[in-house]
Amino acid sequence: MFGDDCSDILTIDFCRTPLSEIRSIYQKIRECDGLDKSKTVTALRAGEDRAMLLGLSMVFVSVMMYFVLGITILRSYSDRSRKRILYTLHAVFFLLHKNNSNNVTSVYTVRLESTLVCKCVCSWSNATSNSAVWPRLEYDVDEGHDWDIFNINEAAGLDLLEGDIEQEETFSRNSIIGDKYRWPTTIPYYLEDSVDMNAKGVILKAFDQYRLKTCIDFTPWNGEKNYISVFKGSGCFSSVGNQHEGKQRLSIGNNCDRLGTVEHEFLHALGFWHEQSRADRDDYVTIMWDRIEPGKQHNFKTYDDKVSSALGVPYDYGSVMHYSKTSFNIGSEPTIVTKIPHFLDVIGQRMGFSANDLTKLNRLYNCTKSSAFVDSCDFEEKNICGMIQGLGNTKWEQRSSVSGGPHDDFSNMGQCKGKGFFMHFSTATAEPGEGAFLESRWLYPKPGAQCLQFALHNTGAADDVLNIFVREYDEAVPGGKLGLFKSISGGVMGSWELHNVNLNVTQKARVVFQGVRGKGPSKGGFSLDDINLSSTKCPQHVWHIRNITGLMATTPAGQKRYSPRFLSSAGYSFQVGAYLNGRSDRPGYVGLYFHLTSGPNDHSLKWPCPWQQATMALMDQHSDIRQQTNMHRMVTTDPDKLDGKEYYWDDPRKVGSKVTEADGSYYYRGPGTGTSTFITHSRLRSRQFIKGDDAFFLLSLEDISHLLVPQPLPRSAAHAGTSARKAADQDAPQGAATSPTQIMAVALSAAAAVFVVSALILGSARRMRMRRQQGSEDLVTLEDMPGFMEGMSRVSDLLFTLRSPQPWPSSNLKFESWKAPWQLVVSQTVDAYRAKTELIKSEQIDHFYECGTREKLKPERERLSPDHRLLESLITKDAVDFKALRRCIWVVCFMLGVN
Ligand SMILES: [Zn+2]
Repeated sequence: MFGDDCSDILTIDFCRTPLSEIRSIYQKIRECDGLDKSKTVTALRAGEDRAMLLGLSMVFVSVMMYFVLGITILRSYSDRSRKRILYTLHAVFFLLHKNNSNNVTSVYTVRLESTLVCKCVCSWSNATSNSAVWPRLEYDVDEGHDWDIFNINEAAGLDLLEGDIEQEETFSRNSIIGDKYRWPTTIPYYLEDSVDMNAKGVILKAFDQYRLKTCIDFTPWNGEKNYISVFKGSGCFSSVGNQHEGKQRLSIGNNCDRLGTVEHEFLHALGFWHEQSRADRDDYVTIMWDRIEPGKQHNFKTYDDKVSSALGVPYDYGSVMHYSKTSFNIGSEPTIVTKIPHFLDVIGQRMGFSANDLTKLNRLYNCTKSSAFVDSCDFEEKNICGMIQGLGNTKWEQRSSVSGGPHDDFSNMGQCKGKGFFMHFSTATAEPGEGAFLESRWLYPKPGAQCLQFALHNTGAADDVLNIFVREYDEAVPGGKLGLFKSISGGVMGSWELHNVNLNVTQKARVVFQGVRGKGPSKGGFSLDDINLSSTKCPQHVWHIRNITGLMATTPAGQKRYSPRFLSSAGYSFQVGAYLNGRSDRPGYVGLYFHLTSGPNDHSLKWPCPWQQATMALMDQHSDIRQQTNMHRMVTTDPDKLDGKEYYWDDPRKVGSKVTEADGSYYYRGPGTGTSTFITHSRLRSRQFIKGDDAFFLLSLEDISHLLVPQPLPRSAAHAGTSARKAADQDAPQGAATSPTQIMAVALSAAAAVFVVSALILGSARRMRMRRQQGSEDLVTLEDMPGFMEGMSRVSDLLFTLRSPQPWPSSNLKFESWKAPWQLVVSQTVDAYRAKTELIKSEQIDHFYECGTREKLKPERERLSPDHRLLESLITKDAVDFKALRRCIWVVCFMLGVN
């Protein structure tokens, strides 16, 4: 199992392996580790001395350079060839769990730089006894936090200009004025492979928003000189404006995969600073300097109006570029107080562009029209947006009320006096079989998919029909050719309903509505309002929630309402669950979760469900699609994601729970993924998310597996590397053979290179020596793997409050992609173990094994700091199996111990 060459992979199953055997394995690990380490230390020390001497002599004797270079190459070669030990420990624990579906699999990697690589896999069960408090069948992508960009970056340990701007402080802050920082209106982009799948889908959706609402378009990089390269950094950040540096990077890291956040970062790249940095901001907000975290005050600077333009737009509290009220605060008090109190809860929205954001962007880039918007009509004007009526006596009428309903229009819900019109076709007055056309003006959409969205109030008889055609014009048919896209039957609905119809127009066309009277008696007809046509794909489904304010008043916190089940175009059945009054631990929010459900096609579908992206959008019911700021959230099914021993996105019949409906029929509902902090109630009441007491969720489930393939590099870029190398190969000998000047140049370059190399070697040798003299230990990098703290949001909330103002004890742990609370748990546990190591060095192995059990910890508890004790008490309270976590961390302790 663990060979003499210390290079094997070691697997220990804690449940089955006898204690004595585990001990002997650990003893072996220690020997191997010690062996390897002693070799390393000797090698390093010799190397340092040699490097120091050689480095020094190189500076004076250039002849030595090849020797030193040779040594360096040899050393790096020997470093690489040195055997690395890979420990893989499988610890499986089942504690107090009520059912097996409570298992959580977590993986993390412990990497001891330069000497060891250790991977620890722990799966354990969460021992919660109250599933109402912590529903296990849900996964919160935000871990229960309502984190803004700045919290994400702070937790990732980033200290950027204004929190998310990657630019030198000395960089002139006025530079958005002038053409040179602008991009062309079509911006080349490259999605690096590091970007998460869900984030890739979100970014492409954000581009659609730019196309719909501005003249900015994005195109895959095709060798253009300057382009935006999106990568997964440790947070969300960008630089401001076109920096003309060729590849300009923009990071969409963990938790940045939200539409508003991506729009925000791209607005930086397009040339925008934060809204509260405007020169006139002190007229609108008060900065509470004493509440700002020490050292973060610089994030609240303003820019001079002589050089940074507000583009003639008033201060915008609703800008997606505005800080939130609690940015960079200590405690919970706001750092930004708006002069008009109403706006205190408005600032910091990350739903999407505000109207003023769009005005500014369109002014900066001289936009006159957007590429994806085609037409919008709310029928308020007498000219009904240039729509025309067909021949015949029966007509559509512009009305503000109809006796058979509706009594109000959809745009204004009758709230505006003298306004509030819609178009009505009365099947009550038309003769049976009679119809009427309502045709749009000539429209010129981009060829491809278009979405026709409209509100329909349907009070006709059951056999009345509303047909939706497109009349396309080309040279062959100058009078236009009608193509039917959808027919909607009559029937009294009693409310305005939202309809989305996918069109496929390739040339000049009209959109045509035809109302047709059936044979049955009718008291009403068809009413149309708020028509929007855009060159985008339609959302697949609409979940209409009626009487939402009433439901919010009566639904208790923690109770979830489910949408009907829908089918995706690939055939997957799904539904969405909403906590209208928040989860019990998140009052004041709407929580929203996506579930796969059993459906008619399951036998022929791929399981676990691969790479389907669910888009859940709460619709802002503004009449003009360009002014709609929908609140989006997207989640993607990763077929490799594990939940215990099961695949998380497997067939709901396997991993879901049975749901029995009122009529006795049943289906299976898979676990939910979403967020407990989808939107606050105060934001839900803003804009037009609720209109006439109704809310609409726009839902889609789309295949994004094509994004698994890396974005192809442009031919020029792919060949650039090769040709550069070829050129160098060809140039060097020719130059050396022909020109004395070139010989000189080559000699000078070589000398310069030698100097740099020697300086580097000297520097690194010096650093190595200093580190050893200080007695510091090797750096341990703890890398969080996806799913590690899955489902542990409640504990993380509690622990989050533990973040003490005093600095942590100096630690040589480095955390990669961990959330701050978990850094805390791990570093505290490691610190505690490290303290023990010093106490019981001689019994290291036994001690570490035993320290996984609580009893052995007791005598030591008095020695722990109050924070440690609080941590212990939290562990007890939550009954979460922290032992598993401790045993995993044990690996780190063990290494630190033998270090
Ligand atoms: Zn920003």
